[in-house]
Amino acid sequence: MIELLLMNKGLVLVTNDDGIHSPGLMALARSVREIADAYVIAPDRERSAVGHALTMHRPLRVENLREQVYSVNGTPTDCVAVGLAKILPQKPSLIVSGINRGANLGDDITYSGTVSAAIEGTIFGVPSIAVSIMLDGTQPPHYEAAQHYCLLAARFVLKNSLPYDTLLNVNVPNLPLREIKGVKFTRQSKRIYDGSVHETASPWGEIFYWIGGGKPYWEHGEDTDINAVMEGYVSITPIHLDLTNNKAIGWLRDKWNGI
Ligand code: MN
Repeated sequence: MIELLLMNKGLVLVTNDDGIHSPGLMALARSVREIADAYVIAPDRERSAVGHALTMHRPLRVENLREQVYSVNGTPTDCVAVGLAKILPQKPSLIVSGINRGANLGDDITYSGTVSAAIEGTIFGVPSIAVSIMLDGTQPPHYEAAQHYCLLAARFVLKNSLPYDTLLNVNVPNLPLREIKGVKFTRQSKRIYDGSVHETASPWGEIFYWIGGGKPYWEHGEDTDINAVMEGYVSITPIHLDLTNNKAIGWLRDKWNGI
């Protein structure tokens, strides 16, 4: 029995892009500690929408805040890179990033610090999960539902690992746990923002541009991530890091020869 417990107790790195003080991160760490030995290594402040940025032009400072809790004055990707190389006592069995305040669906994942932390883990060969909760600004986050499904995903990955070069992008509707209909395995949808670049002026008449708050148009296919979450399901998308459009290689070759 003891042997079984030890076998199941993997080392898990918990991170996010909302910063070390985010309630979603703490909720995630509490849940992960039920099944594994968790280290929390997260940015010292909110770093949402930094994508996969790596800090290379200044040194990074790591602060040990509590036992197995560290903050880094850098990006989520920095946290994973420094964590794996210098903080963790061994290679973790899993990296979990989240619980992000706001969904990471469709093309938004290319901006996401939450997903990028999982990308960094995947590059280093550590199975990784990104978890986000869909918010509309009217309700406080139901972290307990995201925690529940995050633990299911973590258990799944600790048992089965993940296909090569692949992470799980988990998005949870902001509903009480009992109202969530279940899990759907989905594909990444397309999204276009309209009118998200706003012109504004300083009191001295200087013109600035402020990006955000546009109206998003989503592709609503039956099997998409956005559709699942809108219907009250948890969306789990396997994300592949190889961005190659393999079919387009043949297309390129054919067209290129015709030049
Ligand atoms: Mn965020």
